[in-house]
Amino acid sequence: MPAIIGITADQKVGHRPHYPDPLTQDLLPHNYVQAVVEAGGLPLVLPVGEEDLVASYADLLDGLILTGGYDLSPQLYGEEAQASLKATHWGRDRSEIAIAQAIIDQHKPVLGICRGLQLLNVMFEGGSLYQDLADHPTAHLKHVQESSLKTPIHAVDLEEGSYLAELLGTKIEINSLHHQAIKQVGQGFQMVGQASDGVIEACEKVNAEDYIVGVQWHPEHMFQHDAIQMKLFEDLVGRSQSSK
Ligand code: MN
Repeated sequence: MPAIIGITADQKVGHRPHYPDPLTQDLLPHNYVQAVVEAGGLPLVLPVGEEDLVASYADLLDGLILTGGYDLSPQLYGEEAQASLKATHWGRDRSEIAIAQAIIDQHKPVLGICRGLQLLNVMFEGGSLYQDLADHPTAHLKHVQESSLKTPIHAVDLEEGSYLAELLGTKIEINSLHHQAIKQVGQGFQMVGQASDGVIEACEKVNAEDYIVGVQWHPEHMFQHDAIQMKLFEDLVGRSQSSK
């Protein structure tokens, strides 16, 4: 039996052709699913907002991917919403934090991607975000790329000796599509990767018991033609398999 990897869905409300009423839809870009399949895992898409089911999901899953999406609600790190904040989704925030906490409590592996990294960070004591990257004191690189996400746009330096540097190398080229960024790294979460302008791009807490890895970029758009990015998914599935 392959490792079962939960992948958190996004949620949107809108009109669909031929449907008379607006629909609430749980949605997931297929490339996350494809990455897990190609890494040898069994993807399971997790619906938004089902906090009551979290304990059952956590027992069923061997590992978890927290996906990209909306800005995070600033209440999660004790701030009021600034004018530059974009759309948030409190129900998604709550259910993702609940499943992530349950998975972490069971010492099963978690990979946070983009918003997923930010979510993990605010789960650690004191972790906070820049609500808008424009508030970052030194950011000047292209973090919201307009070219294809299959192509890298800036580099990340990974800290020598860190788990991610061992896995991916100390300098990698990545894509970028994020409106927010980590401000204060939460206690116990270790910052291991930065862009040359100081924006935090990777954090980890990896030891014999824990596997909590977060990246600010989108490896799910790159794994098909970049073997380095594929390692993130292969490693997650491998660790999930061995934590069964
Ligand atoms: Mn970036």
